[in-house]
Amino acid sequence: MSPSTRGREVERYEPLEDDRVRCAVCPRRCVVPPGERGVCDVRQNDGGRFELLTYGRAVSTAIDPIEKKPLFHFAPGARVLSVAARGCNFECDFCQNYRIAIEHEDVPEQSFPPAELADAAEERSCEGIAYTYTEPTIFLEYALDTMRETGEDTCNVFVSNGYMTEETATQLATELDAINIDIKGHTEFYRKRCAVPDPAPIYDAAETLADAGVHVEITNLVIPDENDDPEVVRERMAWIREELGPGTPVHFSRFRPAYRMQDVPPTPIATLESLMDVAREEGLYHVYCGNVPGHESESTDCPDCGTCVIKRQGFEIRSYDLEDGGCPSCGRPIEVAGTEWSRGAESTGSRRRLRF
Ligand SMILES: [Zn+2]
Repeated sequence: MSPSTRGREVERYEPLEDDRVRCAVCPRRCVVPPGERGVCDVRQNDGGRFELLTYGRAVSTAIDPIEKKPLFHFAPGARVLSVAARGCNFECDFCQNYRIAIEHEDVPEQSFPPAELADAAEERSCEGIAYTYTEPTIFLEYALDTMRETGEDTCNVFVSNGYMTEETATQLATELDAINIDIKGHTEFYRKRCAVPDPAPIYDAAETLADAGVHVEITNLVIPDENDDPEVVRERMAWIREELGPGTPVHFSRFRPAYRMQDVPPTPIATLESLMDVAREEGLYHVYCGNVPGHESESTDCPDCGTCVIKRQGFEIRSYDLEDGGCPSCGRPIEVAGTEWSRGAESTGSRRRLRF
């Protein structure tokens, strides 16, 4: 391999005999012989030097409302510069971005080094950068260096499958402000549909990040007859309540046919609603419906008195009525983090005055 195509050496890996290396970024801990790559296909052993091939190379950039990630309780109304590098450590049959995540060999990349990415976010008046669309854990060094380049005016958020080692989660927590972790189903579902042997590390990572002060929201993609068993969901909701806290926002996202699952119908709204009921029964305060524009559960109601405190339509904030961080009717504090990066309803043209 010529020097010009060499990637950036990764921060943490274990050298083994015969120039092999063991990756430390995700729980697969791939042992990679010289000249080969990990399962993710973007971390490569070049003669004992372990490299990230996608460092500083973006495949997709866009400016999104942070609500689209989805993050509903972090920096409400913020605009984020979204960026992806190619590749993933999962192979989900229902992947919505498989052209950049799975079948990405020939996808065009754009040189976008960390410092330029950080500058671009500021120049475009974004309050944050979102590492998203593919799995940011496997472009960890690119993401972390970008976070190190951003100033206090810029927040950093991950949209992730959560499949990372304890070391990765601990390191990430030193720079990351918020994360949405997609929990895809029970263990068998992960094996059958995502090529993941054991999802336990995802739960560990969520706890590590939350304990370190990173704002965590959880998304559950619901696929009919695949991962919609209410009792399995109930167990997961109880875990979230106990380990992450009852104020953890939880999203139930509607499946639409994608990639290798074109023949499965979209999730019935009634299924989503019954699972949302399960989450509320388990004591979670903030439960949302995703991919169903116009659904009443897009908005945030005060868990105590029911007053609508953040009204959303799609990803837009229509009104933002928190007073001193609490419900304007009963005063209950509402769990919203990252308000220093928030625009409230300002970004959508509402004339409502911001009251943080
Ligand atoms: Zn209230």
